[in-house]
Amino acid sequence: MMAADSGATVLETNDDNPKMPDKKKTKFDVIIIGAGPSGYTAGIYCSRAGYDTLILSGILPGGQLVNTTEVENYPGFENGIMGPDLMIEMRKQSQRMGTTIIDDEAVDVDFRRKPLKVLTASEEYEGRAVIIATGANPRKLGLEGEETFGGKGVSYCATCDGPFFRNQELVVVGGGDSAIEEATFLTKFATTVHLVHRRDKLRASKVMQERAFNNEKIKFHWDSAVIDIKGNEKMQQAVLKNLKTNEESTLDVGGLFVAIGHVPNTKLFKNQIDLDDEGYVVLKDKTHTNVEGVFAAGDVHDRSYRQAITAAGFGCMAAIDVDKYLTESADKQE
Ligand code: NAP
Repeated sequence: MMAADSGATVLETNDDNPKMPDKKKTKFDVIIIGAGPSGYTAGIYCSRAGYDTLILSGILPGGQLVNTTEVENYPGFENGIMGPDLMIEMRKQSQRMGTTIIDDEAVDVDFRRKPLKVLTASEEYEGRAVIIATGANPRKLGLEGEETFGGKGVSYCATCDGPFFRNQELVVVGGGDSAIEEATFLTKFATTVHLVHRRDKLRASKVMQERAFNNEKIKFHWDSAVIDIKGNEKMQQAVLKNLKTNEESTLDVGGLFVAIGHVPNTKLFKNQIDLDDEGYVVLKDKTHTNVEGVFAAGDVHDRSYRQAITAAGFGCMAAIDVDKYLTESADKQE
């Protein structure tokens, strides 16, 4: 999948939904917050299992995939599929199963008592179970060129976009496991991968470091930062600055991969569920959070895989766990 240039695509709204949601309805069996692959998949499974399910999709539904162009590695599409189209298909499939989708943003939650509450600016929704599927966004360098050349050379996912850069010189920014993994992966396609790191030591694990040091295609630029991205239609150059000497240099490259970590979308859940130091949801058991009835799926808790297919898989797992939880809760009440 190739990161698109023009920001998020607005997916179709419920106006196209054959089964219009009842906007006055506020009580559901399951509320899913977020509408990326994990949220929609959870919606498909929960609705299909007979649960009255609401997805609060946020204002720009579709998650990170609406900012991508072609997705070549999602199984089932021989010739690939455009990211926004894949999300529209998932959305329609979930709606066909009976999920109510409201394109509004959750602004607050109350998980301290049952029923669980999820609030938008105008409404208060109640659910017997909640699945958090709010995802994560790649951390950005904060350069103007990231916006200008997004989808035109600048990427945040080597697994997704690497094959588009055959026989080119590339830059990877970062010094953690992701950066090293991405740089190593990109050497399959690139002639040279320039790894630009702000310090003179990598944060990545020893074994990953050794692999990178032994890879002749990876060239290290220590104590350095990318300070500008230049080009015309596509990016053509990365401007580097040595942070110790302040010396600037230019690399002629076809692509720049930013791998400086992710930021999970969990501000809303602070003080409500357990989050780790970096804000990722901590799972207690399978997809259960530390709060009974609250589950999490996808990039919001997964810092390792971060693929559309794994997010969808986690959505399925959360829905199955919700089914078990709701069945057991009903048994207890009888
Ligand atoms: P990370 O470990 O937090 O590393 C982020 C890297 O980006 C660090 O080297 C950091 O520099 C650098 N960085 C952060 N902000 C920056 C900025 N504004 N400008 C320039 N550089 C910046 O993140 P990650 O590599 O995505 O890994 C996240 C977690 O997933 C880690 O626990 C990692 O072990 C795990 N992971 C594991 C694997 C694997 O085992 N196969 C693969 C990928 C990820 P400093 O070092 O100077 O802080």
